[in-house]
Amino acid sequence: MKETRIYCPHGHKEMTVKKSEKKLSFRGARLSVPVEQFVCSECGEEAGTVEQAATIQKSISDAYRKSAGLLTGKEIVEGRKKLNLTQDDLAKKMSVGIASIKRWEGAAIQSRSMDQALRLALHGQNTGDACTGNRSFSLPRIKLVFVELEKVLEKKLLKKNDKMLFAAKYLWYADMIAHRETGQSMTGSTYAALPLGPQLNNYRDLIEDILKEDPSTAEPLSTEEKRILTRIALKFPREQLVFKAAHGEPAWKKKSNGQLIPYTDSSELTAL
Ligand SMILES: [Zn+2]
Repeated sequence: MKETRIYCPHGHKEMTVKKSEKKLSFRGARLSVPVEQFVCSECGEEAGTVEQAATIQKSISDAYRKSAGLLTGKEIVEGRKKLNLTQDDLAKKMSVGIASIKRWEGAAIQSRSMDQALRLALHGQNTGDACTGNRSFSLPRIKLVFVELEKVLEKKLLKKNDKMLFAAKYLWYADMIAHRETGQSMTGSTYAALPLGPQLNNYRDLIEDILKEDPSTAEPLSTEEKRILTRIALKFPREQLVFKAAHGEPAWKKKSNGQLIPYTDSSELTAL
């Protein structure tokens, strides 16, 4: 590597590289981060090269991720190499873009749901059931998703004796888009391709239970999940719109009657 010489901007001598431990606050966490930069021995002025600044960014991100219980960039790289995966392999395995993998291996901080998806992909714990979208099936969460959608749509989606003709399509988009964008479905529901569109598997047996569920017992929706639900509600303000959109999705069109629609198809969605 070519040697860099930096002179103090206050007219003092050449600055020298010093390693130190800096204490700083980041996203509300107190962190101690190793820092390597140029320092003037006379006035204490600090300066860094672009590379040094990038290294410090990474150190801050990794220290934060460590303190928050998330995988660090280093751990992601190591885990990936242990499995002999390229960044592209890992991206495909997780149904995310390669740019995301590159960013997380650098200084970008992954969301908690993406962290779970990373752990599943890297540490083999059953690489996410393709039919539940990396989440255990939860009836209270289904109810919670409907409550949130109904709030934004300002109308009821679930009625008594509902055949879920429209409701299931909202739910399908919520689960599939959450899977595509966070690595995890919202409710763990399994969907089948039925003649009238994607449908919650066994919906006939589930509908009464969903109606009875107490949504406050579900794991609360994350900000990301709420944002996704708002987008869905804004895109499909009327039930006919969500119905029509679902029928245009290759993920449904390419299936035979009754075939399950795996979450790995979430990357193929076209309406949102
Ligand atoms: Zn100086």
